[in-house]
Amino acid sequence: MAGPAPGRTGREVAIIPFDQLSAWKDPAVAKRLGWYLDVAENRKPAKFRIARTIPVALSLADAPEDALWDELDRLTPVFVERLARIRETGEAPGTPPPHLLDLCRELAYRMLAHCNFCRWNCRVDRTRGTKFGTCKLGSDTRVSTYFHHLGEELVYRGLRGSGTIFFTSCNMRCAFCQNGDISTDKDNGMVADARTLATMAWLLRMEGCHNINWVGGEVTIHLHTVVDAIALLGGEMARPDNDDVQNALRVKSDPFTLTSLVSGCGTYAGAFNAPMLWNSNFFMTAEAMKILRILMDVWLPDFKFGPGRCAITLSRTPRYWETVTENLALIHRWGEDFTIRHLVMPNHVECCTYPVLDWIAETMPDVPVNIMDQYHPDTYTDPCNPRYEARYADIARRLTGDEVRDSYRYAERLGLKYETITHEKNTLGLFV
Ligand code: SF4
Repeated sequence: MAGPAPGRTGREVAIIPFDQLSAWKDPAVAKRLGWYLDVAENRKPAKFRIARTIPVALSLADAPEDALWDELDRLTPVFVERLARIRETGEAPGTPPPHLLDLCRELAYRMLAHCNFCRWNCRVDRTRGTKFGTCKLGSDTRVSTYFHHLGEELVYRGLRGSGTIFFTSCNMRCAFCQNGDISTDKDNGMVADARTLATMAWLLRMEGCHNINWVGGEVTIHLHTVVDAIALLGGEMARPDNDDVQNALRVKSDPFTLTSLVSGCGTYAGAFNAPMLWNSNFFMTAEAMKILRILMDVWLPDFKFGPGRCAITLSRTPRYWETVTENLALIHRWGEDFTIRHLVMPNHVECCTYPVLDWIAETMPDVPVNIMDQYHPDTYTDPCNPRYEARYADIARRLTGDEVRDSYRYAERLGLKYETITHEKNTLGLFV
């Protein structure tokens, strides 16, 4: 065996650049997340920057909503063509407003007035705050906390963390929710308007985060504020002022000092740049998907429940399978960058894990999957929690070794691309 190189003791470790982390050596990961990686490294402009270069041919404030959707349908192929060209060549010049980014913002606010962000399709006017849908929200968005998340997959957390912003409330009711304090308490954290939200994203990116990770609870139910914040980051708010920063720091969980800002790490051609990551349960409408197609550089969908009744009994969510599979099929057809998460649940390997993995193998076998083994009883399934409900006794325990091994073996037999994304935490992947 060769000894250490001359002048080295053999005990040093060298931290390697983000784009050379071990996960990128897997061709399936590198191929599926190539665009995201280029934006994370500021080699390419984020999609929201490209959307700014597509002019809109109508007056946003005056046009009826149907005309706005027609305009989005007309401009989406233009956007897709320009995105493909920029993948190959580089940045295109910006245009004065109104542009496709403004159109997305206008549409999100129109939707808020008859809310159809998610598949509940409640049709309540959330701008009035007098009637509420399943998420129980009006027009305010609340952020519980935000920080450099070092627990996400290596391709997202990298070395400096995933810039994760946690919104309150949810549109599903998972009895075992691992973020129950956020998802079941819509009033925690602070109200964050679009400018505050944009400031949070700006801080995280300028501190070196590899992406902006929009998550909850559930993020979809805050679509209007997220789209508005991205539109601000795309042009109107070149950088936040001191008041913006002071306000946004109120719920930041990790320390901030001016020296935290990493020079030039979040810009492309002198303008703010960051990959936008949609970390969601994917219980969204086609309309929300159309808007997000323009804005998201990478997607991180959850795919939990099989096609039987488990989504109803464990999450009180009807039409789960059809909605999530439709949306997954859409982003695959669109050629988007994404990986899928599947949480293995005790006593639900045969009814949920196997059919979920079967569907992925049949429909999109090239997509990397994280088969997660960290389930623990929480919220209504934790016998130590005062909110525990005995009807959830079958999932009131951790996974057995057999359940985890059976899930991995099943994925192996199906030929799924799961090992790099699933097992990297055991190898750290950060060091050479
Ligand atoms: S976000 Fe979903 S749950 Fe909330 S009001 Fe809109 S359609 Fe209903």
